[in-house]
Amino acid sequence: MLGLIIFGIRDVTSERARGEFFCPRCRSPQVYVHNTCRRFFTLYFIPLIPLDLIGEYVECQCCTNKYKMEVLRPALEAEGGAERNKAEFYKAMSQVLALIGLADGNADESKIVAIAGVLGKLADREVPRSEIEGELAQAKESKVDIVQHCRKMKGYLNDNGCELVVRSAIVVASVDGHLDGNERAMVLKLATALQVPHARLAALLPAISGAPSEPRAGTTPSSPS
Ligand SMILES: [Zn+2]
Repeated sequence: MLGLIIFGIRDVTSERARGEFFCPRCRSPQVYVHNTCRRFFTLYFIPLIPLDLIGEYVECQCCTNKYKMEVLRPALEAEGGAERNKAEFYKAMSQVLALIGLADGNADESKIVAIAGVLGKLADREVPRSEIEGELAQAKESKVDIVQHCRKMKGYLNDNGCELVVRSAIVVASVDGHLDGNERAMVLKLATALQVPHARLAALLPAISGAPSEPRAGTTPSSPS
């Protein structure tokens, strides 16, 4: 006698991803789970063959409210935007440091090492020497001046970020033991473009370079003739 074969169709929900999003109901950042719902062909109630995708949704793990996938868009866009800003900032910082490195004529070994150190900390990776040499070569060729790089940076840096750029520039400029006229002029230009207050700059300059003189407060540095 033939046994009874039970087959049928069943909808199965499975987790595809999780992350953090802004839950409209909780009105705060919460953990979400991205679920998909798929129809399966079952045999003896066991899902065996995946059929069509019925739907997908995002569920807040706090209030358990379910949302359409669009709810994740702001989070994804913000994530993408932050990554883009980070990459742009890194590039601008590389070029600024290369220009600072070249301010007194040529970037010697100590400057290359200092630039690699600053960029390495920023990117949290070992920055190869070839990358710094590439930036220096590009900075020599480029007609883009330090103020233009700063204008780009200013858009996504807060006051602390601006100060960090100036501080890094001073480290690179004075790593060979002195801060000459051109280097000092370029650091002043950088600080002015990034709107770092002169009082802050005055505090940074002697502290880092060991230079006894203070920059003249309130003056806008002119380009070296
Ligand atoms: Zn919620």
